[in-house]
Amino acid sequence: MSVLIVGSTALDSIKTPKTENPRLLGGSASHAAVAASFFSPVKLIGVVGDDFPKKYIQLYRRHKIDLAGLQILPGKTFHWSGEYELNMNHRRTLLTELGVFETFTPHLPASHKAAPFVLLANIAPSLQHHVLDQMGRAKFVVADTMDLWLNIALADLVKLLKRIDGFVLNDSEAHQLTKEDNVFAALRKIHKLGPKYVIIKKGSHGSILSSPRGFFICPAYPLHTVVDPTGAGDSFVGGMMGYLAGAKGSVDDNIRRAMIHGSVVASFCCEGFGLNRTTKVKRADIDRRVRELEKLTKF
Ligand code: AMP
Repeated sequence: MSVLIVGSTALDSIKTPKTENPRLLGGSASHAAVAASFFSPVKLIGVVGDDFPKKYIQLYRRHKIDLAGLQILPGKTFHWSGEYELNMNHRRTLLTELGVFETFTPHLPASHKAAPFVLLANIAPSLQHHVLDQMGRAKFVVADTMDLWLNIALADLVKLLKRIDGFVLNDSEAHQLTKEDNVFAALRKIHKLGPKYVIIKKGSHGSILSSPRGFFICPAYPLHTVVDPTGAGDSFVGGMMGYLAGAKGSVDDNIRRAMIHGSVVASFCCEGFGLNRTTKVKRADIDRRVRELEKLTKF
């Protein structure tokens, strides 16, 4: 089955203590779509300007990503720039130029409206609503978000939580939303807002799922060197949704393995700038790290 992914399609300029890389392919939807493409067919919904490099369109195509829902409009592509501190755990946004994103209205081609798996990757909640308004009843809808929307679009986000099956956010966002320091108390409060599946990401410490079948503690793959963690969260949720769409059986049966696969794709994402490393990965590389994680967590 296929997975429909909407989110930002961006040019990212990333600074780390060691080096600087301008205008890489980035955006929540780009990272999530490439990650999902290892496991199932992907339909991408997004917008870019006429400055968007052709090599990035080719990169999407190499991953067999359906681009019928990608709008190419006159103007500039969304440009985001961020800088990491020495420990690579803290990031500062240097610049956000919306460009064609400012007036973006996601439009779903008829062929996309019945996609069974839907990932509303990080964009404004009003746009996430707009995608759901155009869809039939999907089998499983998951949304991601960021602190910005908790600050400036909380009412829209809270409304969205009633329309989705799964919600993915990081620990600081969970604290911001619920005012709870304890992650399990936060999970309980978020369920009360709507979603049956809630995943709290904890960066290099993995993630926690709370679902109808209980909790699952998902490890991060142990990496000695992190080159650029930008997009790791998007790769995690994209890999998870791609795996779910590609697997036989129910979401409840598969979601734990799906999270492990997402976690492994996220580890590759961290090993290169932008999508540089992820796009060189083969399915066999992913399976090898999944087996390693299996060994590491067996007791
Ligand atoms: P992450 O590292 O998982 O937080 O995701 C980083 C990605 O989010 C980058 O590729 C950015 O292009 C994208 N991004 C940054 N700010 C925004 C925003 N306001 N809306 C949507 N995407 C954004």
